[in-house]
Amino acid sequence: MMPAAYAVVDADALRHNLARVRQFAPASKVMAVVKANGYGHGLLRVADALREADGFAVARVQEGIALREAGFRQRIAVLQGYVDGEELAAHVAYELEPVIHSPEQIYLLEREPLPTPILPWLKLDSGMHRLGVSQEEFPICLRHLRRCPWVQQPIGLMTHLSNADLTADESTPEQVGLFRACVAHAAEYTSIANSAAIMAWPVTRADWVRPGIMLYGVSPFEGRCGEEEGLKPVMTLRSRLISVKWLRKGDRVGYAGDWVCEQDTRLGIAAIGYGDGYPRHAPSGTPVLVRGQRVGLAGRVSMDMITLDLSNCPDARVGDPVTLWGDGLPVEEIAAHAETIPYTLLCNVTQRVRILEK
Ligand code: PLP
Repeated sequence: MMPAAYAVVDADALRHNLARVRQFAPASKVMAVVKANGYGHGLLRVADALREADGFAVARVQEGIALREAGFRQRIAVLQGYVDGEELAAHVAYELEPVIHSPEQIYLLEREPLPTPILPWLKLDSGMHRLGVSQEEFPICLRHLRRCPWVQQPIGLMTHLSNADLTADESTPEQVGLFRACVAHAAEYTSIANSAAIMAWPVTRADWVRPGIMLYGVSPFEGRCGEEEGLKPVMTLRSRLISVKWLRKGDRVGYAGDWVCEQDTRLGIAAIGYGDGYPRHAPSGTPVLVRGQRVGLAGRVSMDMITLDLSNCPDARVGDPVTLWGDGLPVEEIAAHAETIPYTLLCNVTQRVRILEK
């Protein structure tokens, strides 16, 4: 039985997008960012498709453990690292590479010998002011990590950019300048670039790059879509019509009844809603494909359903396929309608949506 709502994940598109990363940054190793359940595409499925990447990055230690338990042997960086001895021990036990972003993590690391060496990254806060040690702390932290007998050498040095998607913004060159000054004479390898930086800022393509969203075929730049960057969309989100009916001119649709039929209208009801991750704030008129034909949302998104104005698709009937994004309807376009970013749409796909391979 076909599930009412499902996402098709295209492993070939993931591989294509990884190859595209390598075209942009041929001299860099690629750490594929697979956090947040592979941006909603399924952690293990994505990691399997991207097993030719040089390493993976996850946000949390549990995500790294899940990869190891599934048998992945690649390098795995944990972007949030550890906050206590238990999480540090898990990094050691599962050979995960913590990102060290505060001096407290170094005190914890130096407190007692580890049973086997650990290979951390040291992160500089070059201006985003989220995670990372300050410019002043950086050389001291680096010295400690170089001297610690149970720290494997060389470690990696990284920073994260706050505005790489704004191609005329001055803060990227400033952040890169600060990072380069801090790592100037270091023998360690470095990593700066997320997807936007890989594509727009060649100066950021260091020893390692850290692409996330572009691997999923999505553009990080507002107003553009992945296909314009030579990327292939990975996720197609589909459902089907479960009811079709005629409404009269003046009839109101959905909660609050704020969509009113301007004439007699054929309405379709599709089995997908915010309980599946479809954005609650997508307004009337947001495009949806029915039988491959563009129609518009009519009225508010409910938990399990959306209502569609089928005027453009007179032959639509119960059981017809409905595509929420994918099949040529860019997720970037839906995000723009819902006044959000495509990252949130992909990550918010809920467990009720079955993920199928193409
Ligand atoms: N590096 C770090 C530290 C991140 O937090 C992220 C994602 O948020 C990435 C790389 C990948 O970013 P993007 O998905 O924009 O390529």
